[in-house]
Amino acid sequence: MATNREAFDEARRYVAGGVNSPVRAFKAVGDNPLFFASGYGSKITDIEGHEYIDYVGSWGPHILGHAPEPVITAITRAARASTSFGAPTVAETALAQIICDALPGCDRLRLTNSGTEASMSVLRLARGATGRSKIVKFAGCYHGHVDSLLVSAGSGALTFGSPDSAGVTASVAADTIVLPYNDVDHVERAFAEWGDQIAATILEPICGNMGVVLPVRGYLESIAAITRESGALFIMDEVMTGFRVAWGGAQRLLNVQPDLTVLGKVIGGGMPLAAFGGRADVMDQLSPDGPVYQAGTLSGNPVAVSAGLAALNQLRNNPAIYRRLEVLSARLEFGLRSAAERAGLEVYIARCGSMLTVFFQPGPVHNLDDARRSDTGMFARFHGLMRSQGHYLPPSQFEAWFVSNAHSFRDIDSTVAAAERAFAELAA
Ligand SMILES: *Cc1c(COP(=O)(O)O)cnc(C)c1O
Repeated sequence: MATNREAFDEARRYVAGGVNSPVRAFKAVGDNPLFFASGYGSKITDIEGHEYIDYVGSWGPHILGHAPEPVITAITRAARASTSFGAPTVAETALAQIICDALPGCDRLRLTNSGTEASMSVLRLARGATGRSKIVKFAGCYHGHVDSLLVSAGSGALTFGSPDSAGVTASVAADTIVLPYNDVDHVERAFAEWGDQIAATILEPICGNMGVVLPVRGYLESIAAITRESGALFIMDEVMTGFRVAWGGAQRLLNVQPDLTVLGKVIGGGMPLAAFGGRADVMDQLSPDGPVYQAGTLSGNPVAVSAGLAALNQLRNNPAIYRRLEVLSARLEFGLRSAAERAGLEVYIARCGSMLTVFFQPGPVHNLDDARRSDTGMFARFHGLMRSQGHYLPPSQFEAWFVSNAHSFRDIDSTVAAAERAFAELAA
């Protein structure tokens, strides 16, 4: 039986960097990744046979925990009836209908295979529908590895972005205006300057990709109003928050309606499935009815759709799940906070529903600059201490932990107890 270390060394020979997505590589915590063999409920087991309570949840999709029975049954049944047709199935309509019924900002939907693809497509649609080229985004918001959105620098000030990645050209980045999150003034100034060229504003209504950062009161409403006043479209990226923070996502929880929405993660039930949707008049600009081209060989794939349908049906038919997630997650939040206090360690904990981040700093955290003040070295040590006690956290300070409905109160209490030991060691 190979060790994690051996598996990683072998992987590096054939897989670029040894991983198929860089966040998996554990670089931010100075370690080697774990290779997993199985997962059930709140627990996952690595190839060395170590069991962990999982707070990554595949980075968000597993709101029901690993391998929930209704989802696995649906996937199996769908696969037996062919994994793909490249032609419409009625299940796609059923999934789109559930999502449109739940989201105030979605009249129509289109399914894609990843959140990145959905973000990329929604920008093309916004540009096609408005005939404008610029996009406003916010530092610290992640919308997938789309060229024009891989721009988050331009710290604080009102600047045109410079690319975050080699291979993203300056000309692509030049159409992206990057502003600090939670600051309406910058948005007003950007629209005063370039309002007639801006196609859309895109943001995470509740951020999860700089760690959890909540919008300040009235922020989303102001951004929506300023954006629409200039004739641009207001896009919410709910890939992480959609059906995670509430049935119907952040837009329903916070009662702010976007023109367009990006979805992923939970809606795929753990399979590769994402979507974008929005106002009928804008969505009708898409090919084949309209001039904006967008396509996909495996889009609306029957196996992925069956998983998404099964997961969403569980959530819709059992609204108590969201209440239970809130209770579990609040217990985790308060437990961690008092554990840190007892250990004499200053941390700032941000949470919305079952998304939570422990920032190793006094806080508050309202934007990327605030988040960056965290002690990432201390987080790396914390991560290792938690992992050695059997608790698997996202391997970066700037990520959200996810609680699932498969977590038990015992899981939460055991994680809090482990964290208290870890905090005490870090404070020593
Ligand atoms: C995960 C995520 C994406 C990207 O989705 P992928 O399926 O990884 O391409 C986009 N936006 C947000 C807010 C996300 O959390």
